[in-house]
Amino acid sequence: MMKNLREISVQYIKGVGPARKKTFERLGVFNAEDLLYLFPRRHEDRRSMTPLSDVKVGEWQTISGKILKHSGRKSWHTKKHVYEMQVGNEKSRIFCVWFNRPYLDRYFEVGQQVVLYGKVNIYKDRLQLVSPDYEVITDDEEDRSLSVGRIVPIYPLTRGISQRYIRKTIKRCLDKYVTFAKDVLPYELRRKYKLDNLIKSLWNIHFPENEKKQAVAYKRVSFEEFFLFQVSVLLRRLNIIQKKGFAHCVTDDFYKKFLNLFDFDLTKAQKKVIDEIKCDLSSKSPMHRLLQGDVGSGKTLVAFFVCLASVKNGHQAAFMAPTEILARQHSEVFKKVIEKSPFSKIRIEILINEIDKKEKEKIIKKVKQGEVDILIGTHALIQQAVEFKNLSVAIIDEQHKFGVRQRALLSAKGKSPDVLVMTATPIPRTLCLTLYGDLDVSTINEMPPGRGKIETTLFSHDDAASAYKVVEESVQSGQQAYIVYPIIDESEKLDLKSAEQMFKQFKAKEFKKFRLGLLHGQMKKHQAQDIMHKFKQGEIQILVATTVLEVGVDVPNATVMLVEHADRFGLSQLHQLRGRIGRGELNSECLLVAEPTTQEGQARLDALLSTTDGFKIAQEDLLIRGPGEFFGRHQHGLNELKIANPQAQLDILEQARAEAIDLTKQDPRLKKSANTVIKDTILRRYPNYLANILSG
Ligand code: ADP
Ligand code: MG
Repeated sequence: MMKNLREISVQYIKGVGPARKKTFERLGVFNAEDLLYLFPRRHEDRRSMTPLSDVKVGEWQTISGKILKHSGRKSWHTKKHVYEMQVGNEKSRIFCVWFNRPYLDRYFEVGQQVVLYGKVNIYKDRLQLVSPDYEVITDDEEDRSLSVGRIVPIYPLTRGISQRYIRKTIKRCLDKYVTFAKDVLPYELRRKYKLDNLIKSLWNIHFPENEKKQAVAYKRVSFEEFFLFQVSVLLRRLNIIQKKGFAHCVTDDFYKKFLNLFDFDLTKAQKKVIDEIKCDLSSKSPMHRLLQGDVGSGKTLVAFFVCLASVKNGHQAAFMAPTEILARQHSEVFKKVIEKSPFSKIRIEILINEIDKKEKEKIIKKVKQGEVDILIGTHALIQQAVEFKNLSVAIIDEQHKFGVRQRALLSAKGKSPDVLVMTATPIPRTLCLTLYGDLDVSTINEMPPGRGKIETTLFSHDDAASAYKVVEESVQSGQQAYIVYPIIDESEKLDLKSAEQMFKQFKAKEFKKFRLGLLHGQMKKHQAQDIMHKFKQGEIQILVATTVLEVGVDVPNATVMLVEHADRFGLSQLHQLRGRIGRGELNSECLLVAEPTTQEGQARLDALLSTTDGFKIAQEDLLIRGPGEFFGRHQHGLNELKIANPQAQLDILEQARAEAIDLTKQDPRLKKSANTVIKDTILRRYPNYLANILSG
């Protein structure tokens, strides 16, 4: 009889029971299917292990041997618990050490056979492993057969279960239930792309017979993950563009008036992008567009265009930014731009959580009654109380700071409004198509003319004074500077300089002749605004801050960006910070003070020093962090890609996308019985934004 694996609770797998059930739940495993899909985080090839005498220093290796000696002690120096072990035989041995794991004292016994995995180094002329992964090999027949002499899966663990145990449990689950696993991929697809069936793949993902079969299995599961991901994205898109939205009327006369607002010409790229958007605006089908362009390329002006087009047609516009500072800046600039223009009567309001309750209620009421034309704000815009009379466009600035859900919440404030999301993090086209496959994409690929150059220099901590000197010289000659720290005050982390502490120091010492300001995310509502205002006016010459000014802030007279502990910041974040300077005609300096302690930290700084091209930086960042971290896993359903890797498997991704397009064209609501399994799986994995589409 066919069994439904989702109905078999994990506790009924042999060896689990009610107590261990809880432990599995911590790993997200509730039933037999979850268990089969609990993929190893890596494999170890234990078919033939390196003898100790051949171990390569500097490499990650799997080593096996007997425990010769072990002991735990408290270091008098660091007060840490130190646990040491010697593994090997009379001829050669390796020394292992773990810190702060007192429970190991009771865990191992002399004479036990262990397998260790770690990076081999030399310490005091001896081979050493620091905090290696460990596993005791018992005489139990079942254990041995799964843990030695084969390619062995290493699973994510949680307190209360060991590799041995989880391996055994999964093996039992495979033995008993894998034949009931439902294959989501239709037979024709598997045949066309020469993909294994699910049962074979699951076996080879957990317990690969050899590398070749393992690769085939990974390919198949990657295809499946991409395919489902794409189907969900495409369904979302279909759902949007099939709706009836606003058909805005965008006349030449209006466009001319818009161009007249600025005392500079738009760049070619800006014009091209506006042309693309004009088409969307005038069509009845809702716009759903991503605008990407490097920091400082002039995206805000495009957003203004969209807002004005809406108001011109008698509707309302919403413009959401991730920080209060940025929202205020947008509103100030906007008001200034339309001053003394044919658009001067337009009513712009700003809504942020930091304003007082009465004021907020007043604005919300006006918005509802249609007495506000353009509402600019932060997350405050998507709170429930906010209702528009007639919202026809929704714009999201720095969209990587928001998620799919928040995007959806804003557009839900209107009846299928035109949506524009903007980002300064351009990503490779194919990836973009994939992850933002529900959006059309426009790109601003040039900078406005007349910008000064940006020079980037790295300093060691000891040499920070040289960096301060550069700040001093620039400020002396009339320019302004930012100095950024990773933390607000010392209480957060003792070994880092903080914004507050350095602000005090600079005021008393290095920069005592200048006017300084302090800015961070925990300041009182009007304080931060006041500081930013003073900096814009030039009253403050040096702004000491945290990353609150990371996005959007635009002060062309600021030409120095000094970042201390630069290796503590993400690459895109550093690029954004650097984007705060080089906005005027003067040349600018980006000064990084850092001594990176990790390879990643070093890679980030190298990238930043070698280019100012946002596209290259984004690509590098993607490489360093991987797509999950880069895009924010939960924001894009990326955590459903457990094995698939969009970057490394672009060809598979493209095939899967093509098939997904086919499928959603033929059966846009997945109503055919042949597609039931696909539909059920997608509903389960991507429930947030698909339930109402597929049930409709
Ligand atoms: P970002 O794309 O990072 O949001 P902004 O929209 O803040 O960039 O623009 C950065 C600066 O460039 C602003 O001061 C803006 O007025 C200016 N700017 C935008 N477009 C042009 C242009 N075509 N020519 C000259 N300056 C421009
Ligand atoms: Mg911007």
